[in-house]
Amino acid sequence: MSELPRIDEVHVYAIPLRSKFRGITVREGVLLRGPRGWGEFCPFTEYADHEAAHWLDTALEQVTVGWPEPVRDRIPVNCTVPAVGAQRAFELVAGSGCRTAKVKVADHPESLREDLARVEAVRSALGPGGAIRVDANAVWDVATAVRHIREIDRAAGGLEYVEQPCRTVEELAAVRRRVEVPVAADESIRRAEDPLRVAVAGAADIAVLKCTPLGGVRRALRVAEAAGLPCVISSALETSVGLAAQLALAGALPELDHACGLGTVDLFEGDVVAPSLRPVDGFLPVPRTAPEPDPGLLEKYRHPDPARTEWWIARLRRLLEARHTEE
Ligand SMILES: [Mg+2]
Repeated sequence: MSELPRIDEVHVYAIPLRSKFRGITVREGVLLRGPRGWGEFCPFTEYADHEAAHWLDTALEQVTVGWPEPVRDRIPVNCTVPAVGAQRAFELVAGSGCRTAKVKVADHPESLREDLARVEAVRSALGPGGAIRVDANAVWDVATAVRHIREIDRAAGGLEYVEQPCRTVEELAAVRRRVEVPVAADESIRRAEDPLRVAVAGAADIAVLKCTPLGGVRRALRVAEAAGLPCVISSALETSVGLAAQLALAGALPELDHACGLGTVDLFEGDVVAPSLRPVDGFLPVPRTAPEPDPGLLEKYRHPDPARTEWWIARLRRLLEARHTEE
């Protein structure tokens, strides 16, 4: 049986989000320090232990062994356009410095007209050389998806891809057979075995991967290789400490043809690191180690509730011990 991994310091944080995301308004998690520096353990609170265990693996890789060598030193990232009006969409994209915009569509059942106006505005902000991808978050049925994708593609002057138009893998495959626009799978990929299932079903042209729930950079690289699809790396809503692991993954992928969804620290009211991993001119650097938290910011975002703090520490301890017993 191996030793328990060495952890020298833990901090439970709570950082308010600028707007509600995944139904939460405050992001919580644990920052931990080990022999190789800092890591982040932040499985969403409703996740069961067997799922949260993968998030712990990601943090432990980060603090005990570090990441594989990157093959590139910066990562192009997309800006994100929520379901806002055309004028606001234009401003968000024009002010971002990004050459790729990810645009939310299908926000409500009658949204098509607004979706078309939004992507037109995004195209005029990006110019002909930029890339526009849209995300429907799994709400369309196959017939609606096919009709809307064709219209949105035309209004956008060409889409890079459409992300998760429908819920099931079978529906994604059906849409993919009927439209020219490439299909990306996001919600269909939540566990390590999912990308392979999506690829085998012919359900997607692109896999959206997040290393944090997949158990670390090395494991996510194996998943990407097994899937055999081009990948887009996307955030799981981490602080800059956890985001660094996602950037390490994007940096180590043998091929990266698309901008990644990693410009997400601005969704938080603040960060534990100064300066934050915030894109400059549409790129983020690939860090060799996680950035070090700032003591003042750790204090500022220390979880205010002792009972919640204790809950996080108990969750971390329980998973560490379960891991220890397994080995
Ligand atoms: Mg998505």
